[in-house]
Amino acid sequence: MNIVFFGPNGSGKGTQGAIIKDRYKIPHIETGVIFRGNISMGTELGEKARTYIDRGELVPDEVTIPLVLDRLREADCRNGWLLDGFPRNISQAIRLDVALRQEGLDLDALIEIVLGREAAKKRIMGRRICVNDNNHPNNINIEAIRPDDDRCRICGAELRTRDDDQDEAAIDQRHDIYYNKEDGTLAAIQYFKDLSHKRGTPAILELDGGNRVEEVTRELIGKLGNLGLK
Ligand code: AMP
Repeated sequence: MNIVFFGPNGSGKGTQGAIIKDRYKIPHIETGVIFRGNISMGTELGEKARTYIDRGELVPDEVTIPLVLDRLREADCRNGWLLDGFPRNISQAIRLDVALRQEGLDLDALIEIVLGREAAKKRIMGRRICVNDNNHPNNINIEAIRPDDDRCRICGAELRTRDDDQDEAAIDQRHDIYYNKEDGTLAAIQYFKDLSHKRGTPAILELDGGNRVEEVTRELIGKLGNLGLK
């Protein structure tokens, strides 16, 4: 099952993505995590990406697109993948579609967590990252996953904030890209919705990101179940 996963920063995509990954045993490929990993390791890619990430801008397509397409060719992707954070603009969407067709692969599902801009911003600013595991959900602005005593709710480890999560200008910039219907992420989503009308795939699964985390998960698992995924 090949899935692309959309939702504005702050919509709970990381949390739901971790659940899908564990349940269906497919790799969760997050472009933001790949970039941040390279920044902490001090690689050349990390150096290139850092300035863009700090400003909330997109890392240029000539860096990002080959990186993602190469990652999808790795051995662990043979039985499917969950792609999160890519495509983020219309040219990335077209390149992904073309590359998949060239390789005889289908995009089975598109998941979109729908959430308004203000709500998403509040969630981002409350987000806390567990130093042990990026997929441990903690957020001081969401009751259900509010950490105790500033430690991770799951494992008790130290919590950090992401620099680009506390910078309002960077958040607004990221959301400008996401909510852009001309050539940004909403345009990329529309591109696949149009393909779905024409070709029958990908299946389009829309989720209400305003619901509680467990409700979103229930809806998600239910909709994936309807596609034959148990
Ligand atoms: P995220 O963790 O998804 O919020 O991504 C963090 C940052 O990584 C973004 O603000 C961009 O600077 C960069 N990034 C992630 N995915 C992409 C992408 N598909 N294209 C370009 N830049 C990206």
